[in-house]
Amino acid sequence: MVCMECGANAEKGYTTSVSDLGNCLLIVRKVPCYKCTECTEVIYTGEVIKRLEEIMERAKQFTQEISIVNYNSAA
Ligand SMILES: [Zn+2]
Repeated sequence: MVCMECGANAEKGYTTSVSDLGNCLLIVRKVPCYKCTECTEVIYTGEVIKRLEEIMERAKQFTQEISIVNYNSAA
């Protein structure tokens, strides 16, 4: 995988995704991604983006102000 920002090599890793859904702050831990070795760019594959959107949809029904879920256990 190559970084779209700077063209450097991006390595496989994990990141924490933070999304502000308005009524709730969603934190998804251990999200698989590619991290650029030169800049701060983080790249998600299409599959991961789709899954994050599903998790966000579900999180909108949560009543907590802050929700922390693990990517793998958020089935
Ligand atoms: Zn980069």
